[in-house]
Amino acid sequence: MSKAVMKREAQLTAHYAQKAEYDAIFAGNKQAINACGELLSSIFRAEERIRTEDGHGKPEGGYLRRPPIGVRLEIGDRYLTAVPGFTHPRKRWNNGEISILSPGELHLDEVYVEVLIQQKDLKGKSVMLSANINEDGIKLCQWRQDPAATKMYIAVMIDTFKDLLDDPYKVFAQNSDHCSCCGKTLTDAISMTRGIGPECIRYFGHLEETIREIKEKYRDLDADWVC
Ligand SMILES: [Zn+2]
Repeated sequence: MSKAVMKREAQLTAHYAQKAEYDAIFAGNKQAINACGELLSSIFRAEERIRTEDGHGKPEGGYLRRPPIGVRLEIGDRYLTAVPGFTHPRKRWNNGEISILSPGELHLDEVYVEVLIQQKDLKGKSVMLSANINEDGIKLCQWRQDPAATKMYIAVMIDTFKDLLDDPYKVFAQNSDHCSCCGKTLTDAISMTRGIGPECIRYFGHLEETIREIKEKYRDLDADWVC
């Protein structure tokens, strides 16, 4: 075997060992991850339903771009965003005009999560970790090369999930400047206290009931989060 091949083999072995370690963390928190996936999906469904009632829902012919459905949370100096799965539309340029080959499609039962940090010197945020949750469980999409950093961001994500299941309003309330849903700047005192603007608070009408049902469903399965 050549040196290059041996090096590559060693890298792959290390990579899979590392992935196995992350998967073990997920397996140990399976119920909290699945329960929070259901909770976030139920928020997405409420958002889509109310947006549709307001006339901002799915346009005739389907979504041409991703609709602004999801949550954006401030966790200390980090951010966690969760949005539904979305298949992007297929478009084609035709003599300067765009034609839609197939419209975009929302997958409300799928949750795409990103953990981000604000860059100090640059404007904007950088994704430190991303994962996809669906009925088959959780799958990492992006992670750090440094295993310690990856494990730290996984912990941020899982702790946020547990906090959301425990008391979502407490998590939303950490956003004082911007709405936890649409990201708009909050101006009135009530909105700033709860971290949700006057338009978006309507998406949370059934939240307490939903959480009660989810906790009931997962109660016997796991003891790693008990409220
Ligand atoms: Zn809002």
